[in-house]
Amino acid sequence: MDDIESLERDLAALAAEAQDALASAADREDAIQIKNRYLGRNGQVAALMRVLRDLPNEARPRAGQASNACKRAIEATFSSLMERIAADELARRIEAERLDISLPARRPHTLEPNPLRAVEQDLIDIFAAAGFEVASGPEVERDFYNFEALNFPPDHPARDMQDTFVLEGEDLLMRTHTSPVQIRTMLAYEPPIRVISPGRVYRVDEDPTHSPVFHQVEGLLIDEGVTFADLKGTLRYFIDACFGLQARARFRPSYFPFTEPSAEVDIGCIFCDGDGCSVCSHTGWLEIMGCGMVDPNVLEHVGIDPDRFSGFAFGMGVERIAMLRHRVPDIRLMFGNDLRFLRQFS
Ligand SMILES: [Zn+2]
Repeated sequence: MDDIESLERDLAALAAEAQDALASAADREDAIQIKNRYLGRNGQVAALMRVLRDLPNEARPRAGQASNACKRAIEATFSSLMERIAADELARRIEAERLDISLPARRPHTLEPNPLRAVEQDLIDIFAAAGFEVASGPEVERDFYNFEALNFPPDHPARDMQDTFVLEGEDLLMRTHTSPVQIRTMLAYEPPIRVISPGRVYRVDEDPTHSPVFHQVEGLLIDEGVTFADLKGTLRYFIDACFGLQARARFRPSYFPFTEPSAEVDIGCIFCDGDGCSVCSHTGWLEIMGCGMVDPNVLEHVGIDPDRFSGFAFGMGVERIAMLRHRVPDIRLMFGNDLRFLRQFS
């Protein structure tokens, strides 16, 4: 009987010792090692139970119960320790990965519109405020819309294949101006007509400093009783909106096949304030657009009665307007992809 009581005391002491050891375990691995030291196949509990074979048969169930109680006590302490370690780890992870939702968001890497596109939109906005609608048309055009209906004689230099991209074997070309959109609009709609047509146009240019593609905005207004005074008033409104009330402007007589009379519009040189510089060729003026009253022949081409209706048209290069508004001396920069240049406009 002394043997079994001694065994029970030893097992209880071993359980208490194991529980103390587990209490001071540094981490998960440490805890597993401690547990194995007591409960493993060659652990201390197993070593104690080797006395079992020396015990009398009737004492063995009691020894087994004592052994199981010891094992359960150690197991229970180990389980709760592992739960605590897991909870601590989770708490540490939550703390480490905590999101501060009050931090300002990072801006994605996007770029403001290209300065050309921004100026084009400004021009659209200015004319939209004066009641002009945007009209568009194909960039690959037929000769009829690009030249013939616009009163270009067959021998006009602009029709030369040296200047125009002609699509081989077809009656097709890359439009050289956005004027064919005016023809298409007049064919499709009855006056009153009030449209602007922004878009890409194409011209052959051997000069490496010129781009074969550039951008125009053209305007067209057709109604009863439209005069040159309406044209001047509309363009003065545009110059005020685009270059400011202080901008000086003048109309110079000119020639275009589809307008009569025709004029070119200059503004006072913004680089030298009219004193004369290399940009304005020392004239003090910078040309910004062409304009004129729509030629009655053009109206007849599209089936509009020139005795009843009259109108004006104007057109400008977006690159040129952008260059003047931003005082950029070399327009090629606008086409480049140098972000340091382009970001200046954002
Ligand atoms: Zn100048």
